Amino acid sequence: MDYDVIVIGAGHNALVTSAYLAQAGYRIAVFERRDIVGGAVSTKEIIPGYQFDLGGSAHILIRLTPIVEELGLERYGLEYLDLDPLFFAPFPDGDSFFIYRDLDQTVEHLDAKFPGQGVAYRRFIEDWRDFARTTRDAFLTAPSPFELGKKAVFGGGPKRPWAQALRSIIRPYGDVVAEYFSEPKVQAPLVWMAAQSGPPPTEPLTGPFVLWQPLYHEGGIARPRGGSGMLTQALKRHVEAHGGDVFHSAPVEEILVEDKRAVGVRVQGQTYTARAVVSGTHAIETFSRLLPEAHRPEGSRYMRVGNGFGAILRLALDAPIQYTAHPGDEARVALQLICRSPKQVLSAYGEFLQGRPSSDPPIVAMSFSAVDDSLAPPGGEVLWLWAQYFPYELADGAQWDDIGPMVAETILNAFEAYAPGTKDKIVGQLFQHPLWLERELGLYRGNVMHLEMSLDQMFMLRPFSGMARYRAHLKGLYLTGASTHPGGGIMGASGRNAARALLKDLDRKRL
Ligand SMILES: Cc1cc2nc3c(=O)[nH]c(=O)nc-3n(C[C@H](O)[C@H](O)[C@H](O)COP(=O)(O)OP(=O)(O)OC[C@H]3O[C@@H](n4cnc5c(N)ncnc54)[C@H](O)[C@@H]3O)c2cc1C
Repeated sequence: MDYDVIVIGAGHNALVTSAYLAQAGYRIAVFERRDIVGGAVSTKEIIPGYQFDLGGSAHILIRLTPIVEELGLERYGLEYLDLDPLFFAPFPDGDSFFIYRDLDQTVEHLDAKFPGQGVAYRRFIEDWRDFARTTRDAFLTAPSPFELGKKAVFGGGPKRPWAQALRSIIRPYGDVVAEYFSEPKVQAPLVWMAAQSGPPPTEPLTGPFVLWQPLYHEGGIARPRGGSGMLTQALKRHVEAHGGDVFHSAPVEEILVEDKRAVGVRVQGQTYTARAVVSGTHAIETFSRLLPEAHRPEGSRYMRVGNGFGAILRLALDAPIQYTAHPGDEARVALQLICRSPKQVLSAYGEFLQGRPSSDPPIVAMSFSAVDDSLAPPGGEVLWLWAQYFPYELADGAQWDDIGPMVAETILNAFEAYAPGTKDKIVGQLFQHPLWLERELGLYRGNVMHLEMSLDQMFMLRPFSGMARYRAHLKGLYLTGASTHPGGGIMGASGRNAARALLKDLDRKRL
């Protein structure tokens, strides 16, 4: 036996699993296809002097978990920088507002701008705080009807009576926001933030995407110093410090199966064996490419990947951005939610349904050089513009390689209207459209969450029924990553939950 556990892929979830196992004394090997670890949490110097994240940037969910402390990741070079204000919302008429980490400060600020909306915001946060905490706890355990039932009964629920609350939970998040806030300018950034999980504001059963809002005031939003990829670099160092091997440029070609048991992997023609194999890749990769055909489960045919939904323009600038609505640096620190109204999100989604890139996309602008001077040369700025909605498969035979530059220009023009002069500051750029995300990061059809984040593919149903508790259908085969509960985003909860399942099984055998 070459190793105790072989891990396929070095996305952050797979590395979290590896780190817990290595810390428990198991001998681990991680095989990563790309030339760096991290998957959708990695950072590279794409333009000389400028550090570009290649995937997720805003670290929100992982701050609500005990992972960083349990693994002692600060000792391996991880340093989190907190953002405050959390969100900045500018509008074309020159108006703007902030959401701060501190609830009282936010309420006061909102009420001064839009009388009554601060009070409404407090009510919204207080109504849903306990429910949001319970949801977070459910994310940190393997999903089962029993666990969910227990949490619903004994965990904190909504402040309102369940009968009333249930209506909000099963409603589209756009309706929930409209119920609490009368001012469209306050509705817009809340709806736009919730839309970033994928489903549109009109989709039933999506209320929880916005009911998560109270937790922004608890865990905050943070950035690893040096770039998002410093999280996965710290995890790699942790695994290696505990005797593990982390190989990059090492694509796994096949999961080896003997007597209905996963016994190892083949990497570039060479065979490696282990007591257990964990796949942290996209579930399509695991079930439709890596497993021999005879061992592919029926249910894997029904996974829904969707048609992409977002694209991101990364810019290297020689000077900081400046908003007309708020020229101060406070705006550069926050996540900048550029969305006029919920209707703008819906119009963009309408074009997406027709297979067309949005002509007027809502944008999240991020300029993390405002808090981290290691990302750009002195005086420079990195600016990311995440925008929606952009289909992977385009209408009328259009191809991303042809239309990419034009779409990037649309996103840039939309931003320029809020921060004039940005175009003149550009010294380099990278446009990551849905096809780019598939080709470079292995995110099938450009879905950054791996699989669609809709109720039919959440909790016990992710990636599909019967495969949801991190143990796959073959003995010795385990799953982790955004294709499993609780889904996409930089959280590491799937990685931690998978490690717990493995540790239970391995420790039992050790005894
Ligand atoms: C552009 C973009 C912006 C985002 N923004 C945010 C954000 O701001 N905040 C947030 O919370 N989330 C964000 N996300 C989502 C989040 O980053 C991802 O959902 C999450 O990082 C997925 O992590 P993972 O470990 O589950 O899987 P992945 O990161 O997809 O890791 C899978 C790994 O497996 C490797 N692999 C695949 N096949 C093989 C093989 N055959 N052999 C070996 N290795 C293989 C891949 O190369 C990859 O490294 C964003 C994602 C993208 C792409």
